[in-house]
Amino acid sequence: MTSQSQQHVVVAGAGMVAFRFVEALRARDDGDRFRVTVIGDEPRPPYDRVALTTYFTGRDPEDLHLGGDEIWRDPHVTLRKGTTVVAVDRDTQRVSTDRGEGVDYDHLVLATGSYAARPPVEGRDLRGCFVYRTIDDVAELRGYVETLRSAHSDRPLHGVVVGGGLLGLEAAGALQALGVKSTVVEFAPRLMPLQVDDGGGAVLRSLIEDLGVSVLTDTATSQVLGERRGVVEGMRFADGSSLPADVVVFATGVRPRDELACSAGLSVGERGGVVVDASCVTEDPAISAIGEVACIEGRVWGLVAPGYTMAEVAADRLLGGDASFPGADSSTKLKLLGVDVASFGDAFGSAPGCLEVSYADAVAGVYKKLVLSDDARTLLGGILVGDASSYAALRPMVGQQLRTDPSAYLVPATDGPPPGDDLPDDATVCSCNNVSAGAIRGAVTDQGCCSVAEVKACTRAGTSCGSCLPLVKRLTDGALEDAGISVAKGMCEHFELTRAELFHAVQVTGLRTFSEIIERHGRGRGCDICKPVVASILASLGTGHILGDDRGTLQDTNDHMLANLQKDGTYSVVPRIPGGEVTPDGLIEIGRIAKEFDLYTKITGGQRIDLFGARVEQLPAIWRQLVDAGFESGHAYGKSLRTVKSCVGSSWCRYGVQDSVGMAVLLELRYRGLRSPHKLKLGVSGCARECAEARGKDAGVIATDNGWNLYVGGNGGFTPRHATLLAEDLDDDGLIRAIDRFFIYYIRTADRLQRTAAWLEELPGGIEHLREVVFDDSLGIAAELDAAMERHVASYRDEWSDVLDDPVKLARFTSFVNAAEVPDPDLRYETTRGQRRPVLISGDRLEVRS
Ligand SMILES: Cc1cc2nc3c(=O)[nH]c(=O)nc-3n(C[C@H](O)[C@H](O)[C@H](O)COP(=O)(O)OP(=O)(O)OC[C@H]3O[C@@H](n4cnc5c(N)ncnc54)[C@H](O)[C@@H]3O)c2cc1C
Ligand code: SF4
Repeated sequence: MTSQSQQHVVVAGAGMVAFRFVEALRARDDGDRFRVTVIGDEPRPPYDRVALTTYFTGRDPEDLHLGGDEIWRDPHVTLRKGTTVVAVDRDTQRVSTDRGEGVDYDHLVLATGSYAARPPVEGRDLRGCFVYRTIDDVAELRGYVETLRSAHSDRPLHGVVVGGGLLGLEAAGALQALGVKSTVVEFAPRLMPLQVDDGGGAVLRSLIEDLGVSVLTDTATSQVLGERRGVVEGMRFADGSSLPADVVVFATGVRPRDELACSAGLSVGERGGVVVDASCVTEDPAISAIGEVACIEGRVWGLVAPGYTMAEVAADRLLGGDASFPGADSSTKLKLLGVDVASFGDAFGSAPGCLEVSYADAVAGVYKKLVLSDDARTLLGGILVGDASSYAALRPMVGQQLRTDPSAYLVPATDGPPPGDDLPDDATVCSCNNVSAGAIRGAVTDQGCCSVAEVKACTRAGTSCGSCLPLVKRLTDGALEDAGISVAKGMCEHFELTRAELFHAVQVTGLRTFSEIIERHGRGRGCDICKPVVASILASLGTGHILGDDRGTLQDTNDHMLANLQKDGTYSVVPRIPGGEVTPDGLIEIGRIAKEFDLYTKITGGQRIDLFGARVEQLPAIWRQLVDAGFESGHAYGKSLRTVKSCVGSSWCRYGVQDSVGMAVLLELRYRGLRSPHKLKLGVSGCARECAEARGKDAGVIATDNGWNLYVGGNGGFTPRHATLLAEDLDDDGLIRAIDRFFIYYIRTADRLQRTAAWLEELPGGIEHLREVVFDDSLGIAAELDAAMERHVASYRDEWSDVLDDPVKLARFTSFVNAAEVPDPDLRYETTRGQRRPVLISGDRLEVRS
């Protein structure tokens, strides 16, 4: 097509939605029917505004640019940065810019977004007052704080953020990153009033305060106080109280930038926004409006997902399609100041007759609520605060019947895959881009995609907020496996390396923090897949406590609290009992502690004692007493050595040919605390009768007349597998050396969450190869493997003792509710078989007949 016959589309505004529009139009305009000119007043190409706060964690602003330069090199696309559209002449179909030019259009797309509003309070324009919308805003804020800090190095700086919604908490996070002690002031009775209810708001507030940010709710700002030179020095509230402040950030909402439309005589909504129909066209057929500036179905949307949908609709209409805006919801999942918050569907339970199932533990800092239809079958919405790990599985189920008991989504994730793999095809997985489970599966089966990256590029799933990525990966991998295609091994969107490659890279480079590692070896900001993997690799390399540096925020829920979260929101405590051997005094101490804290006790399958029902603020007190009694962490919460189960062996048993308990204790003390891709279990039997069921373990040791047989790669669980014989009649030293090498080799080369059984099945050359590596040093790495295990043994420290000795780590277990000792009134307990247990959410209880 010649350029003369091309239609000219002018886009006013170069933000996120404009970018999506240009991408969508160019991707589908096969005949180059349109050329596009994008005019934006910011001095840079469109960037990821949602990720603005990462600017404070040292990211180069250029990292935020959307989509690379490719689109701007397209000969049919022109970007005019730093240029403001100042007027629209609808008669001549021409826009004018602040540079005095006129640009003719065949179709005009208004994508001018919103501006951050300052409330009408006295002093709002004083020096030191900021808004939080653009890269320039945050750069100015940073510059101002840095200048202040050099002028007042003798005292802490104070900041006030006006507004306790999403933006306010983002801004408080930014101030915190700049070392400014901040207070969030919210007019409503709770934080994030649009996303969470009172229960969620209370937990969110506790979590935010726990991070050192003060919160004032039900508080109206009346004046910004300033000294004579016009610089901020404080804040006054409607009740007459005041706070000192060096810097004030207004995060009180946004207003559509609809001034161009107004002056061109186009209709705007009651609360602003250019009125458009479902095809995103204004009353002038030559003008569309998309994104935050558009008023569609009578409202404006302050989220990026509806804007992206509008961009797709507008592009489709120009190309002759009949797409129309299907509506949107306000589902959001965010990590604010490191705290998970998610809200989706009918979060506030407005549907008639709906039921709410909630789970709250103010002490543990977790609040979860599901809203269900009146027959308790269909999921309508929900709120998750403190732990949003089930969001990816739940969000697509809105409007669908849950296939399991709702409580399965409320209790913490187990070792098995989270619910969600069997989603129906019509369930929406990526709400930002409206991509269904069927579309993801179809990308593999019909479009030939072979990796998550390809599925993302093909469907756009996971390309915006990224909260659905773990689910996209599971669906993609599942579809690939069903199609008999080998799954790409890159860990996730952020790392093209496999876990094994990343392990090697971290080992070689000596990097020690997640931000350094992702900067060097990955891209983006990380996700729920790669963060725990990096945490585990750093722990396997013995680089320090799992809650040290930036690692606390990377850990899974259980590692986060060094305890196992239970379905009632309390934790279980498992002290190590090596080889299952415990002295009567030790037993008495455990019993005494269980009695003092009213803990339910049970002997586990791994021959130790599990103490259930501990509230998070009780954990340090319980562990203080356990440590004083000579116990240490049993790592029941970690992907690490769990237990070494043993029979009584030659000490007591008539058939025993070796001291199985002695060997089990030795092995457990050697490998305790060893972090690995998945949990590790061992067993030692004193003879071939195998009472310790050692062949169901990752490493199983069975006594022979001449020593020990070693079996590897066994497990119970979903797919039970008997371990395979690796070597026979080993002496004690030979056995230990073989297990050392096997474990370290596995830890370095396995995939994430891959147990030894699956690893061995996939290991090229299988058991033969492993035998050669361990006994013949076929890879020339035996000395390295030995040294790595020796380093682990020498550097082992009890994780809980370290916490008890460190006030900073201890602080995370401090209660932040007013009456910590008062159990949550929503939790109900009953006494069964002489012990206190939570009342089951559903299901029958077995009574014991005497
Ligand atoms: C800190 C922060 C965090 C956020 N987090 C989330 C989140 O987690 N989830 C979510 O869904 N949303 C989030 N948002 C909101 C999201 O960024 C917006 O919904 C999205 O950017 C809207 O895109 P848009 O293109 O409509 O507007 P914008 O991105 O604002 O782009 C409009 C552009 O047009 C320019 N412009 C305006 N008028 C003119 C003119 N006359 N001439 C030329 N150029 C003009 C503006 O300067 C701007 O660059 C967040 C926003 C911020 C600030
Ligand atoms: S495995 Fe052998 S030694 Fe151990 S308890 Fe059973 S019979 Fe006795």
